[in-house]
Amino acid sequence: MKNIILLGPPGAGKGTQATRLVEARNMVQLSTGDMLRAARTSGTEMGRKVAAVLDAGGLVTDEIVIGLIDEKLAQAGHGGFIFDGFPRTLRQADALGALLARRGLTLDAVIELVVDDGALVGRIVKRAEEALAAGQPVRRDDTPEVFQVRLQEYYKSTAPLIGYYWAKGDLVQIDGMADMQAVADSIASVLDKA
Ligand code: AMP
Repeated sequence: MKNIILLGPPGAGKGTQATRLVEARNMVQLSTGDMLRAARTSGTEMGRKVAAVLDAGGLVTDEIVIGLIDEKLAQAGHGGFIFDGFPRTLRQADALGALLARRGLTLDAVIELVVDDGALVGRIVKRAEEALAAGQPVRRDDTPEVFQVRLQEYYKSTAPLIGYYWAKGDLVQIDGMADMQAVADSIASVLDKA
């Protein structure tokens, strides 16, 4: 069982790569973004609270996302957890370390998908167009305007995690601008070594 974090700005390809790992290695994708979007449509008090934050591209509170992740870590009998979109702040990173330690789990690698910011907004717009064409729901935060806010949040709150995990010796940087298969191959080789 290998537990990894996929780190990178919105549109870097974390979700795409996580989906592939779920299929190829029986890993479990823990996407706090997916959990929050599910919560908003479930009509719960928490969903109602977070809806406006999601639409504006801000970050929901650390307590909420840490609670969501904590609930999911009890699952067993799989190839490992992929943390996708979590942690996004230093506090969340510390909390994840504590949650894993409490369950006797380890973090095997933090994989940063290094991408060129200029290409990201184009990817987001494409994701929205593809969802529309496929009759799937379009994310309300996949607009160029909200994307700018999400990117700023990334640099302000999440990018410090790069240094945090580098200092722990956990960080592996891979080229997220390569084609999807090449990125998947790079991730596979990190997992096989970890
Ligand atoms: P994502 O699907 O990862 O792009 O996340 C979509 C949105 O969910 C983000 O823009 C945030 O509003 C919220 N979100 C997801 N994960 C987190 C997190 N770890 N901490 C705070 N907010 C989050």
